[in-house]
Amino acid sequence: MRVLLVEDEPLISEFIAKGLREAGHNVDHTASGTDGLHMATHETYDALILDRMLPGMEGLELLRILRASGHRTPVLILSSLGDVEQRVLGLRAGADDYLAKPFSFAELMARLEGLLRRQATGPETPTRLRVADLEMDLLKRSVKRAGQTLELQPREFRLLEFLMRHAEQVVTRTMLLEAVWDYHFDPQTNVIDVHVSRLRQKIDRDLGPPLLHTIRGAGYLLGMRA
Ligand code: CA
Repeated sequence: MRVLLVEDEPLISEFIAKGLREAGHNVDHTASGTDGLHMATHETYDALILDRMLPGMEGLELLRILRASGHRTPVLILSSLGDVEQRVLGLRAGADDYLAKPFSFAELMARLEGLLRRQATGPETPTRLRVADLEMDLLKRSVKRAGQTLELQPREFRLLEFLMRHAEQVVTRTMLLEAVWDYHFDPQTNVIDVHVSRLRQKIDRDLGPPLLHTIRGAGYLLGMRA
């Protein structure tokens, strides 16, 4: 895919551009909001990764102008402004997804792929995830199974969000360590098993057939299994 990256922090933009190029994608980068708007309206991109606090023009302003002029390019906002109100502002301005910094590259890629899938299959609200009768509302930060609200700790929520975004796929401990705990953790620790076990108690206990499965020697899988 061809991606436009509008980000003024050199370390972050280098990290993202390098990762995307290694994954075989084309990346155009600018650190300026005004240049970003010019490029987004004069070139064709499959997706736009947009920072908010930018020199020249604020990211949300860029996005509003882009949408007002009829451009439907999928936009992922990447911002250190990560609380619910800020995410709502971003989505209302026309973003398709919103990822808070700090982030992991694996999650950024998963979200970009999600944007392209939704683009390919038509519009769908990007603020909810659903696996069987388990539902997550990313704006309200709420989780329900079979209509019952579940109280999750923030870490459990991130863990479940990652598993739901990778539903029906085996997710390894390394992926979880990177996406949910960030890099700097001793992989020998049983912290993942402890959190998965707590999460499983909350989502699977008495609420229906088990959804969170342990795949021996590989990791975990969220989904319906025979
Ligand atoms: Ca910035």
